[in-house]
Amino acid sequence: MFQMLGKNKEKTVYFALFTLILTSVILATIFFKNDKEIVSQKTNTSQPDEDITLIKEFFLQKIKSPFINIDYEIKSGDSIQKILKKLKIQNKEIQSIITQYKKYGSANRLLAGNKINIIIEENLSNKDHSIIKFSVPITKSIIIEISKNNEEGKILSKKIITKLYKKNFIAENVITNNLYSSAIDANINPNTIIEFARIFGFEIDFQRDIRKNDYFRIVYDKYIDENGEFIKSGSIHYAYMSVNGREITLYKFGNDQTYNYFDINGKSVEKALMKTPINGARLSSSFGMRKHPILGFNKMHQGTDFAAREGVPIMASGSGTVVKSGWCGGGGNCIKIKHNSTYETVYAHLKNFARGIKKNKKVKQGQIIGYVGTTGLSTGPHLHYEVIVNGKKVNSQKLKLPSGKSLKDSERELFEIHRIKTDVLIAELISEKK
Ligand SMILES: [Zn+2]
Repeated sequence: MFQMLGKNKEKTVYFALFTLILTSVILATIFFKNDKEIVSQKTNTSQPDEDITLIKEFFLQKIKSPFINIDYEIKSGDSIQKILKKLKIQNKEIQSIITQYKKYGSANRLLAGNKINIIIEENLSNKDHSIIKFSVPITKSIIIEISKNNEEGKILSKKIITKLYKKNFIAENVITNNLYSSAIDANINPNTIIEFARIFGFEIDFQRDIRKNDYFRIVYDKYIDENGEFIKSGSIHYAYMSVNGREITLYKFGNDQTYNYFDINGKSVEKALMKTPINGARLSSSFGMRKHPILGFNKMHQGTDFAAREGVPIMASGSGTVVKSGWCGGGGNCIKIKHNSTYETVYAHLKNFARGIKKNKKVKQGQIIGYVGTTGLSTGPHLHYEVIVNGKKVNSQKLKLPSGKSLKDSERELFEIHRIKTDVLIAELISEKK
């Protein structure tokens, strides 16, 4: 029924077009009487149905694109040369495609039975066609896309991974020098280390708490391709640290969008603010009275200074809204974030701001907002960090932040099940390693 309607509709459209053209022809004959004979001949001899077909073809011709899209099934014994030769592609382009393909595999050994998607531009003046795109699978989950760059007509290629495999990994190490280098030694990629430091950033001051022979263990996801090659890291499921005689175990709990890290008692470790909004820095001047290094007289230092190399990223110590991002005089380039009705933080002497950081921008805890510099009244690269509680500047390093929420009732029960499952997974991962 639907199809019939569609066909009728199509017919009506073409008939309307036909009538329109016929009307113009009649009008034209009035103005150009010389053509009268031919016109009348045509209208007399043609049946309406045939006319519709003719007009249809005329329009199809008009809209016909010079691009041809082919899904070519690879036959055994096929080579790129053979396939493209058959499609009448210019020799020069075939050679460029082969050169690109050779970066990934042998152009004479294609996966028979798989399909290559080819887009060709028909060349009407010259007999050889040119290539727009050539997408060929080299494995079950990798496609090599070779295409012509629009501006320069250059032939380029890229690897497209169509399928990734998620795998749990366990990594552990003794901290010999610092967390970062010990984690790198344990083959953990930098993004995961940063996330690890962020999760523990509420509990541990990485500058002061870490002692030689402290220990960490971490279970996280890695995305790999079918050859086991690392593509990217996923989230951390479990993190353990033994620092300075203290043991902290954290479990990721929640759904993919909203999750949190909880200790063995089901208490969230995440707090409104992180202890230090910067990694790998040294506390160089604490909150309190001091002789100002530039002004020379005694003055209350209303923040905490962290010495770090110029360009080291600075994180938002809590989620909130940027209320200032600009020049603050003595503070140089500075950022102020309002976290809630109680807390605000200030970051000063920045070299520059992270992309998109401006007034009214919402930021997440741990998000990079700017980079260490020495702008304003400053003697060397450092971050001047202030925490403001109810409008009053306080010592960020002594600040007791309200602890995170605790899981209760059914949530707590679910967490306990999740915790046991995670512990079982860890035991399995450990035994696999041995
Ligand atoms: Zn300062």
